[in-house]
Amino acid sequence: MKAFQMVAWQKPGELREVPVPAPGPGQVLVKIGGAGACHSDLHLLEMPPGARPFKLPFTLGHENAGWVEKLGPGASGFAPGDPVIVYGPWGCGLCMNCRQGMENYCQRPEGPNPGGLGGLDGGMAPYLLVPATRFLIPLGSLDPRDAAPLSDAALTSYHAIKRSLHLLGPGSTTVVIGVGGLGQMAVQILRTVAAATTIVAVDTDPDKLDLAKRMGADEALVSGESAFKRVNDITQGHGAELVLDLVGVNPTLAMAAQMSRKLGHLTIVGIGGGALPVNFSSPRNECSVSSPFWGSIPELVEVVALAQTGKIKMIVEHYPLERTAEVYHLLHEGKIPGRAVITPNG
Ligand code: NAD
Ligand code: ZN
Ligand code: ZN
Repeated sequence: MKAFQMVAWQKPGELREVPVPAPGPGQVLVKIGGAGACHSDLHLLEMPPGARPFKLPFTLGHENAGWVEKLGPGASGFAPGDPVIVYGPWGCGLCMNCRQGMENYCQRPEGPNPGGLGGLDGGMAPYLLVPATRFLIPLGSLDPRDAAPLSDAALTSYHAIKRSLHLLGPGSTTVVIGVGGLGQMAVQILRTVAAATTIVAVDTDPDKLDLAKRMGADEALVSGESAFKRVNDITQGHGAELVLDLVGVNPTLAMAAQMSRKLGHLTIVGIGGGALPVNFSSPRNECSVSSPFWGSIPELVEVVALAQTGKIKMIVEHYPLERTAEVYHLLHEGKIPGRAVITPNG
């Protein structure tokens, strides 16, 4: 089969011929419906040689959904043809965090080893080998081609929001910086699970700001000093309870620090490579700074439920496997409205 692979550091990925994997004991072969193109792939492709300890090449695509194709010996709980979404951060399953469903924080020395992001093959190919059935969640009536981004764009945003929900009551403000794939999910998730909070979307792209407004943002602001002033006004000078930085470059981190309030949460999800200076006076007193990675298995079950009830919906554009290199170029240029999803089986 053809697979879109990372072949070298600081080089674009390539379409290569690879064997169709055979599921071993406990494993599952999934026929890919959709594999989302996440901005993290671009960060990874741009890293200097050896920045991560895994071997190249491997198949990209860590945001996957499809249909069960074949169960390996001893694997049970699913039947061929079942539509499933794939939980991405594959942990050991046995450490305390994994036992609690937080395989994103697997405690083995190498941490979770996600297909498509950590050296193991991902879903930008007709078939994906999944190490265990616990990583599959039934999709019910959702189409895997549209549902794939739920496994990262939505799950990561959901996890980042859920840990701050107790702050997001009436009168609260939440700022979402960067309303691309993740940010559009964050706005919709906030609208449904934190209905009372005032949602402020911030981006550099006016089209993304329009989309965010249509998805439920109360305010949509162009990134920079004027956005800080507006948030300052809305919050009577106190700042926002939650500031989600889904970009993570120096200017957005500095803006996030300005915008967050005492006792608030400043949550860095974007892997833009910036640094946030932290000292006694900035961010404000007792504002917690955290850097969540992906989400848990139970949270993915909840995210799928949100999508099944129509409460969140990703804007998806489908592309054939042959156009994957072009898709990453478009993503780099900021020209993907929501999420581009590769559909290797049409
Ligand atoms: P995307 O390209 O779809 O969206 C990025 C958005 O940020 C775009 O709308 C862009 O216009 C906007 N933007 C760029 N510079 C900006 C600035 N200075 N101010 C405001 N907005 C700006 O990317 P995505 O796939 O949604 O990913 C977003 C980030 O989250 C990436 O850095 C990605 O690597 C990271 N990510 C992290 C995790 C995690 O577990 N922590 C998971 C998935 C993605
Ligand atoms: Zn991702
Ligand atoms: Zn573990």
